[in-house]
Amino acid sequence: MTDLFSKFDALIAQREGLLATGVKDPFSLVMEEVKSPTVAVVNGKETILLGTYNYMGMTFDEDVIAAGKKALDEFGAGTTGSRVLNGTFQGHKECEDALKEFYGMDHAMVFSTGYQANLGIISTIAGKGDYIILDIDSHASIYDGCKMGDAEIVAFRHNDAEALEKRLKRLPADAGKLVVLEGVYSMLGDVAPLKEMIRVSKEAGAMILVDEAHSMGFIGENGRGVAEEQGVLDDVDFVIGTFSKSVGTVGGFCVSNHPKFEIMRLVCRPYVFTASLPPSVVACSAASIRKLMHNKDKRAHLWENSKNLHQGLRDLGFQLGTPNAQSAIIAVVMPDLEKGAAMWAALLENGLYVNLARPPATPAGMTLLRCSLCAEHSSDQVADILDRFERAGKAVGII
Ligand code: PMP
Repeated sequence: MTDLFSKFDALIAQREGLLATGVKDPFSLVMEEVKSPTVAVVNGKETILLGTYNYMGMTFDEDVIAAGKKALDEFGAGTTGSRVLNGTFQGHKECEDALKEFYGMDHAMVFSTGYQANLGIISTIAGKGDYIILDIDSHASIYDGCKMGDAEIVAFRHNDAEALEKRLKRLPADAGKLVVLEGVYSMLGDVAPLKEMIRVSKEAGAMILVDEAHSMGFIGENGRGVAEEQGVLDDVDFVIGTFSKSVGTVGGFCVSNHPKFEIMRLVCRPYVFTASLPPSVVACSAASIRKLMHNKDKRAHLWENSKNLHQGLRDLGFQLGTPNAQSAIIAVVMPDLEKGAAMWAALLENGLYVNLARPPATPAGMTLLRCSLCAEHSSDQVADILDRFERAGKAVGII
């Protein structure tokens, strides 16, 4: 018998090597108690959360929680069904209405996760003989959506509009083309030059999908994302998003103005062949989305936090993923996995949680300590975070 697990041997050895250095497993942390969007108890210690993607801090919003409790009482714990059978409740329609209003678009389709939204929309709209042209640093759910479909895949250099244009020019003029972009790239927190990329894509006759997972609720005048910020939202054919970040719940969606969009509900397998979100989750999500429309002050505070953390970390001598704060993600580049894990552990010891990110999730083989800020972090907490980074960085010998 060939042990099918032998392909994981190198990864198992790497993990065991890391644990042998005394570092706690960074990928099996437990939040023992969650006190607020910015504070939890981890390993028995009160810890500041700086790696949750809970950008707008909606997880503890009282209106969001009240809406969820009401739906739980009135509609029960789950739907036990697909959206196309018994799993579309009033709350799913209300959630889709909230999304249509949020984006000012004609159609909205809610999926059980953002991962499934990418998987479903990408694999369904681009078929045999079509081309998907995507940024090489695209999220795993985008790559998996490509794998699941039958289209030809063409990747181009990260955030390089010229490289995208060159690739597009080499494709048959009359072939169907879908260009897949992200507003904010989650590893380094860098923003895409969407305006330029969308211009070259339109010239080549391509349709455009933008994943705004990390920008919804925060970037743009109304929090509609990078496409709004750069004035090109009307040129985007499909916006993909998630509820697991700024919205503060779980779920995914696609919004579009395409006149035939509703047919997706019948042909998109990750929408049809899975159970829909529980009533409490869609109720929380709809309440959160409606509040996010009117959150200008919180957006401004989150920008302030992001800029202060970026500047402070740079002043301390850390190497960062972007030259300036472009989003609420600030990536600190570590020299290698061992030092990164040691720094991660030292921060946790100091009561600060960040994400340890490593290949294959990261670009160019980098080990990153990824920080994501929250609009509920106070200015004092940001100062405290910098203080903890300084102590841990000196103890580990990174600064
Ligand atoms: N797209 C991007 C760019 C993401 O970063 C993520 C999650 N990290 C997703 C999609 C998937 O979202 P979800 O958590 O809702 O599955």
